[in-house]
Amino acid sequence: MIKKQLFINGEWVEAKKHTPLLSPYTGEVIANVPDATMEEVEFAIEAAYQARNTMAEMPIHQRATILEKLANLLENRAEEAAILISKESAKPLKDAKGEIARTVQTYKFSAEEAKRINGETIPMDAAPGGEGRLAYTVNMPLGVIGAITPFNFPMNLVAHKVGPAIAAGNTVVLKPASQTPLSAYFLAELMQEAGLPPGGLNVITGSGSVVGGKLVTDNRVKKISFTGSPEVGIGIRNKANLKPVTLELGSNAAVIIDKDVNIEKIIPRCVTGAFSSQGQVCISLQRIYVHKDCYDTFVEKFVTATKNLKVGDPLNLQTDVSALIHRKEVDRALSWIEEAKQKGAKIAIGGTSEGSILHPTVLLEVEKSAKVSCQEVFAPIVLINKVESVEEAIDLVNDSRYGLQAGIYTENIHTAMYASKKLYVGGVLVNDIPTFRVDHMPYGGVKESGIGREGVKYAMKDMTELKLVIFNNN
Ligand code: NAP
Repeated sequence: MIKKQLFINGEWVEAKKHTPLLSPYTGEVIANVPDATMEEVEFAIEAAYQARNTMAEMPIHQRATILEKLANLLENRAEEAAILISKESAKPLKDAKGEIARTVQTYKFSAEEAKRINGETIPMDAAPGGEGRLAYTVNMPLGVIGAITPFNFPMNLVAHKVGPAIAAGNTVVLKPASQTPLSAYFLAELMQEAGLPPGGLNVITGSGSVVGGKLVTDNRVKKISFTGSPEVGIGIRNKANLKPVTLELGSNAAVIIDKDVNIEKIIPRCVTGAFSSQGQVCISLQRIYVHKDCYDTFVEKFVTATKNLKVGDPLNLQTDVSALIHRKEVDRALSWIEEAKQKGAKIAIGGTSEGSILHPTVLLEVEKSAKVSCQEVFAPIVLINKVESVEEAIDLVNDSRYGLQAGIYTENIHTAMYASKKLYVGGVLVNDIPTFRVDHMPYGGVKESGIGREGVKYAMKDMTELKLVIFNNN
């Protein structure tokens, strides 16, 4: 049995307490994982705090080299890393492989972006009284970054915090989700090999409220970068006081299908958007609004494609849909389907479960107050509703607590321009599903989908502080 240790100040530290980690798919114990005490969290924060000057003063080319090495080490062990993700989270192996390829990209972008932390010169004599002065800005690292991450992309969402933080000269205390600690400790191992100084990255597993709560309230931690559910994110914001926070939260992402689009062509992409990683993706395609002229064709082809999905063991490369993260999530999802049915929805396919797997489910004619429509479903469930017009669909998309990304398929340039202006979300995808992200683009949401943007360059900006320097040459 694998027994993990905490990673603090560049060393593996035996924890006082451990808890068993269960496979979401088989229910078997796959490891024993540290359940950090307050004292151990304290030790990790202090290590990161003591290392802050070493990281801030490290020449940028050295930081970039460490991140480049990390990316290469991960690329060399990609297969092993993907299997680890698959075991701890039940992410189908083909999706896990895709996540590792993206994680490598995220660290490569971080290495490159480290070299572009530019300030600017300010023409002081543009204002009367500013004559004879030279002024410029520098981007100072903040110090210790508290990174709190979710289970659903355990490598790449960690990379979106660790990569930019190190690139900008900060240190990190990372608290990964309790269900996905193994990939975080794997990262620590690679970071050590890549040559990051002790204290640069510290990994602490344990309860969200204990470890996360301490990171949020400790004065030595200068920023919290959180990805997870809106409920926890809002709680963090309320406790953080003046500490800056980035919150990457949930959504009930939608796509609009206008008349005249080539339905055959877009079906595979829509099915992938709805069901990859069992729908446990923050921009998973949850709501599809289809123009009445092509509604029946769309539904028929979507359901046929859904029937072809392979359900089963996450470690089988053929599997498309596997177990939800916890058995109780299956019960929750089934109760939400039942509620939608009570409100008049029809099940086109799915709506049943097998162990911890929920079969891919397509619902039609769903009332907008049903939870599967207005809340984040985070399960392989998608609704397809008929609309009279694109305008009606835009209103439905915007009638949400969330606003991460939205998509529209249309052949009409005016409709595309109109929708991109009217959709109130962090990102609009024209002729694509909302379930699209590459790792250097600005990414984040409005409303309860969050505050701030990630995407390496944008995250780095929020992990530095602007300092102005003025030389008086008079
Ligand atoms: P979660 O339950 O909110 O947990 C996220 C992290 O917060 C975990 O590490 C968790 O630790 C920790 N935590 C829990 N309670 C805490 C507290 N009181 N104080 C500080 N930290 C605390 O989310 P999840 O179920 O892992 O992930 C799913 C959610 O993440 C979905 O809502 C999804 O949409 C969102 N998400 C958003 C994005 C984005 O970029 N916008 C990307 C991916 C996922 P424990 O695991 O120990 O509880």
